[in-house]
Amino acid sequence: MIYDVVIIGGGPAGLTAGLYAARARLKSLLIEKGLPGGLVTTTEWVENYPGFEEGIMGVELAQKMEKQATRFGLEIIQGTVVDISLNNKIKRITLEGSQDYEAKSIILATGAHPRPLKIEGENEFRGRGVSYCATCDGAFYRGKKIAVVGGGDSAVQEAIFLTKFAEVVYVVHRRDELRAEKILQERAFSNPKIIFVWNSVADKITGENGVNALHIKNLKTGEKSALDVHGVFIYIGYNPNTEFLKGLVNLNENNYIIADENMATSAPGIFTAGDVRNKPLKQIATAVGDGATAAMAAEKYIEENFQESY
Ligand SMILES: Cc1cc2nc3c(=O)[nH]c(=O)nc-3n(C[C@H](O)[C@H](O)[C@H](O)COP(=O)(O)OP(=O)(O)OC[C@H]3O[C@@H](n4cnc5c(N)ncnc54)[C@H](O)[C@@H]3O)c2cc1C
Repeated sequence: MIYDVVIIGGGPAGLTAGLYAARARLKSLLIEKGLPGGLVTTTEWVENYPGFEEGIMGVELAQKMEKQATRFGLEIIQGTVVDISLNNKIKRITLEGSQDYEAKSIILATGAHPRPLKIEGENEFRGRGVSYCATCDGAFYRGKKIAVVGGGDSAVQEAIFLTKFAEVVYVVHRRDELRAEKILQERAFSNPKIIFVWNSVADKITGENGVNALHIKNLKTGEKSALDVHGVFIYIGYNPNTEFLKGLVNLNENNYIIADENMATSAPGIFTAGDVRNKPLKQIATAVGDGATAAMAAEKYIEENFQESY
């Protein structure tokens, strides 16, 4: 069977693309390697997504998006896409385990994954004191001291969240001011459990059975010191999930997919949406907008290129 649209990635972008495609009566399949919801499931609380005036839990928002999309007939399967090849206008999508699907169009909505610090101890203590997900792991640090590395929205938002559990949250940031939204900064500065460690970078993570210390270096003075912490949460940015594309579509210098305003990539019939796309604001609101646009563009592409089906 040849699908009209195969969507790769089940975060807000992919689920919205799926909703629009299925509602447009396109035969639509979404392939997600984990659980639907993407990065939204890794944050406890979302308060800047319109329609939920009191905010909504990340997991709940993800579940609502999934239910809404499947209600219109979107099929969702679990699998990791490892390759895409083109056979004339038909695209072949290969999953880990060699299962294949064919489609007239594809929407790439694979998002991005947290960037590692690449310091000593990070891999050794991953899952045993080093984490990239406060919602998943925060509760393990009740009454403990922890460090968050980073100064953007995610770092500050998650540092605030972690104060629910931890006794002290150090925010280690390489500059002397935050990049996070002003409202998050205000909340963080007024939170007595958060201590900012400015102009400093993480050097190594040490411990025995778990983490005991984050070693840091002050970039202004060169002075090295150690924070006595049991957990290190890393939020220093993201890398796009584009490794499997292997030259299929044009990427920018940071490996984000380049697309036009209709979400069309350099390959005909292959569209993109969400955080994997080169764009200035990577948020749920922009991901869902991209997803809707990509689905409508895919529908138009199919109408123009597969007239025999209409
Ligand atoms: C801690 C944290 C807090 C945040 N808080 C907010 C907030 O309050 N408000 C807000 O607007 N935004 C927030 N964001 C950002 C928001 O989560 C993202 O902008 C949004 O999830 C992007 O959606 P997406 O669908 O493009 O990508 P993602 O959500 O990353 O989803 C991509 C999906 O693709 C899947 N995938 C990847 N590769 C493959 C493959 N090869 N095969 C199959 N599936 C694959 C992944 O498993 C993933 O589920 C937050 C992010 C983080 C990390």
